[in-house]
Amino acid sequence: MILVLVDHDRGVLDPLSLRALTAARKLSSDVQAVVMGRQGAILAKEIGEYGADTLFVATNDVFADYTPMASGKALLELVTKINPEAVLAAGSPRGNEQLAHLAAFMDLPMAAECSSIKIGNPHEVTRARWAANIFEEALVHSDLLIATVLAFSVEPEQVGGTAEIKEFEATLDAADTLVRVIGRGNESKIGGISLTDAKVIVSGGRGVGGPEGFGILEELADLLGGTVGCSRVVTSSGWRPHAEQVGQTGTKVAPDLYLACGISGAMQHIAGCKNSKTIVVINTDPEAPILNYADYAIIGDLHKVIPALTAAVRAARG
Ligand SMILES: Cc1cc2nc3c(=O)[nH]c(=O)nc-3n(C[C@H](O)[C@H](O)[C@H](O)COP(=O)(O)OP(=O)(O)OC[C@H]3O[C@@H](n4cnc5c(N)ncnc54)[C@H](O)[C@@H]3O)c2cc1C
Repeated sequence: MILVLVDHDRGVLDPLSLRALTAARKLSSDVQAVVMGRQGAILAKEIGEYGADTLFVATNDVFADYTPMASGKALLELVTKINPEAVLAAGSPRGNEQLAHLAAFMDLPMAAECSSIKIGNPHEVTRARWAANIFEEALVHSDLLIATVLAFSVEPEQVGGTAEIKEFEATLDAADTLVRVIGRGNESKIGGISLTDAKVIVSGGRGVGGPEGFGILEELADLLGGTVGCSRVVTSSGWRPHAEQVGQTGTKVAPDLYLACGISGAMQHIAGCKNSKTIVVINTDPEAPILNYADYAIIGDLHKVIPALTAAVRAARG
């Protein structure tokens, strides 16, 4: 049996978790899932449809919001009780962090961001290294495999079925809740389109010039039914919240259209956007590395090109 940690943000499912459920289904017909927090129980229907027949719900009040070490402790308690062959989660920053805590509590290895998994003795995994520029084949010598599934390496498959909810309250120490969310600087994003879900991302880099420059990107993103992303220079400069950062240390995305505006195309940025179906680049520099990944490119000043694009989309829609 394989246990899958399904991650959610206060009841909003992380769609990468559905891919982790599918990866588990490909390994075993016996898949069970776990969510942290009572709000996660509303996901039971979807989790059942993606192949888990049981959904364990950790009901401790601390799981009202993300509490990664406590998640690891709750997972430890559940794993000890139900004894799975493997524990999987999405290869997202949160999935990686929560399973790393489980592995640390159990003093076991953890394989992060695996593009393939074979359970055995030892377990065989292929995992992404160096922002997925290198894929490493590794053997994991432990009875229990603890691994996360590389973002977008598995297509989610609905298989039907229902998940029976089983609640449990984990035994936690005060130390388990020392790391927890105490506030957010981007509450306005809640309810909007998340980067992971977005079909269109209009992403800005240093070339945007400052926080006020993002107005034209927001306008175009709204018009196309998408959302705004950015590079790390932008978040480090405080122009946009970290939740919008695309890349190795941000969010990995796979929209239909990724519009990279004033972004040079550093390896760490490409790691986050290379699964996009179509990449359109707007850059003043015809030698910018991101052009190597572009399906289409406009060499020009984004402050002129984006308003012209927005006007053209409006005109085309009458
Ligand atoms: C461990 C590590 C992790 C990292 N993780 C990430 C990550 O997750 N995401 C990430 O993005 N980066 C990450 N980085 C940083 C990364 O290496 C780059 O520094 C960063 O991506 C560069 O951001 P940028 O493209 O916005 O800026 P720059 O590299 O400065 O590029 C700006 C681009 O804008 C163009 N430009 C300038 N003016 C205009 C204009 N008016 N119109 C059009 N184009 C214009 C320029 O030609 C240039 O190509 C990481 C780095 C490290 C070391």
